Parts: sequence; structure tokens; C-alpha cells
Amino acid sequence: MNQDSQFQQKQDFKCKDHPEKPALFWCKSIDCNENRIFCLICQKQNKHIKHYNGDVFSIDKLNEFLIEKLKSSKGFISECELQMQSTIKSYNKLISGLQYKFCGLENKINQFEVYQKQQVLDSLIRQDEFMNYLKHNLEGIQQKFQKTIDDLFIKLELHLIQYQITDQQIKLNQNEYQKGISLNIKNEQNEANLNI
Ligand SMILES: [Zn+2]
Ligand SMILES: [Zn+2]
Repeated sequence: MNQDSQFQQKQDFKCKDHPEKPALFWCKSIDCNENRIFCLICQKQNKHIKHYNGDVFSIDKLNEFLIEKLKSSKGFISECELQMQSTIKSYNKLISGLQYKFCGLENKINQFEVYQKQQVLDSLIRQDEFMNYLKHNLEGIQQKFQKTIDDLFIKLELHLIQYQITDQQIKLNQNEYQKGISLNIKNEQNEANLNI
């Protein structure tokens, strides 16, 4: 694909509000609630009048802008990956430590020295205390963490993507969206209960 065809618009690029009219402009105002890609009639109706200070451009500049923005969205994805990896790393460290401490000891305990048995005994007696510590300190944070991610999923409209996606993925996204809604309702109920 050469540079020219990459930036060429499709001929049938029409206004969503006026399907018989060609889309000639687009608006990049962050506060825009109108159709961002629009025709001359929309412009005459002053739909984007408040956004005109350098926010409305000719349609032939659109692809260039999209391609530039798509490149910068990689930073957003990297940030998500970095956060996820750091959380997973902490859990892996904890789980691996717990496995060394408690798993597969049944057949070895006979050969343990007293100081080793002492360490196992103390930890096993305090196991419930440690488990409660984990639940008490992380459960709320985890719910909040999950809600933040689910909210972002909905804000970004990832459940409504209309390109580059299989039917199966669309279904999965819609399920996630439903889960997000039920989670929000649950959280609102929890908050309401806390406020009573
Ligand atoms: Zn606008
Ligand atoms: Zn229009």
C-alpha cells in the first residue's frame, strides 16, 4: 500500500445524520457530543459551533490524525501491561513462598530439626490470622481495582468495537459489559448499605 492510497478516503463516506450527504469535516473537541464526522448541513446547523477554535478539520486530514493517534495508543496499552505484570509478580512471589513453606512437607516432617519444626508449627498455628490479614487488607482494594478496570472497559466502549473482531469476541465483550453493570449495581448497593 503506498502513501497516497493509505490516506485516501472511501468515496462513499457519508454523514451519519444526513446519509445522502458526503462527510466533509471532523471535530476533535474533547467535549464534543455530536457525531464527530459530519457534513455541510451539520455545519450550517452550527452543531459544532462551540468547537470551532482549531478543533474542526477537513475530512482529508482525518486518516493522518487517526494513524498518528493509533501510534501513541501503544503507550496506553504498555501502561496497562506494566501494571498487570507488577500485580502478577507480587502474587507469584507470595504464592511461590507459600508453596515452599507449606506444600509437600508431610513426608519430610519426620526428618526436620527442631528449629525447622518450630517454624512450621508457628506458621500453621497463625495461618488463619495470615489469611484474615490478606482478606481484610486486599479484598476492598481488589474490588475497587476490578471496578476501575471494568469502568474503563465501558468508558472506552470496548464492548462496542465494530471492527477487527470476531463474533465470539463481540459476545465475550458483551458478557464483560453485563458483568460490569452487575458489579456496579452491587457496589452501589454495598455503598448504600455502608451509608445506612
Ligand atoms: Zn464538535
Ligand atoms: Zn450531516
